[in-house]
Amino acid sequence: MRVLNSEIHLGAHMPISRGFQKVPEEVAKIGGNAFQIFPHNARQWKARIPDRNVLNQFKRNMKKYRIEHKAAFCHSGYLINLASPKDDVRRKSIDLLEKEMRICEALGIKYLNIHPGSHLGSGEDVGIDLIVKGLDEVLKRTENVEVVILLENVAPKGSAIGYNFDQMKRMIEMSAFPKRLGVTYDTCHGFDAGYDIRTPSGVRKLLDEIDEKVGLERLKMIHLNDSKYPLGAAKDRHESIGFGHIGRDGFKIFLSFDEVRKVPWILETPGGNEEHAEDIRRVLEIVGE
Ligand code: MN
Ligand code: MN
Ligand code: ZN
Repeated sequence: MRVLNSEIHLGAHMPISRGFQKVPEEVAKIGGNAFQIFPHNARQWKARIPDRNVLNQFKRNMKKYRIEHKAAFCHSGYLINLASPKDDVRRKSIDLLEKEMRICEALGIKYLNIHPGSHLGSGEDVGIDLIVKGLDEVLKRTENVEVVILLENVAPKGSAIGYNFDQMKRMIEMSAFPKRLGVTYDTCHGFDAGYDIRTPSGVRKLLDEIDEKVGLERLKMIHLNDSKYPLGAAKDRHESIGFGHIGRDGFKIFLSFDEVRKVPWILETPGGNEEHAEDIRRVLEIVGE
């Protein structure tokens, strides 16, 4: 039972502490063939393009460990908030997001996953407006960069925007660059927002909603996380696959759908590489590959 060379693309969020160039090998070591990384320290505003040496080694190792481009993702830093009512935060967010796009391009990574933003009290309409303005400024500045921004569905917590597909639809339709926008579906955040993927009819309903509102072709990544809390709890507490409220049986149903299998699955479950290796084993057991 190995994920390498299978139809399925499965992996985890990986640390970059040993350098970008080490990531492909570490992915192979945990039994994966897909990954997500931060393009810089996610808790800082500063970011820089990696040295040429690192970039070359990274690209060589992508080939060596046979990781496909559709299965490699960056996740934007935590400080970015395009919906912030504070001008300076929004400015810095736009600048950093642009820098992240350029780091993705340098690494040859095609997708940059972001949380749309939190309005912090100014309301959803104002927040969505600011997010789209920010996205469009970044996409305009990077017109020749072939990186697609993926809007991740978030938990409906605080003033976060992007916890349902009506909001995603509005952002994509309002943008001047809809072709450069895709979506990520996080199973824990979706469960927090009331999407019940434990039954075939629940999964069908979710997939139909994604298709109707943003188009299934825009779904480029699934964040595969179980949930520590029950359906609709809005807590955003990830759990290891099979040990939460979605559970083994729930994932068995969700992961049986073709539309879900086509998209890379990235774990953001508790723990590090060791725990993720166990999660990968469990997911493969569940899908019976
Ligand atoms: Mn995220
Ligand atoms: Mn996620
Ligand atoms: Zn989360």
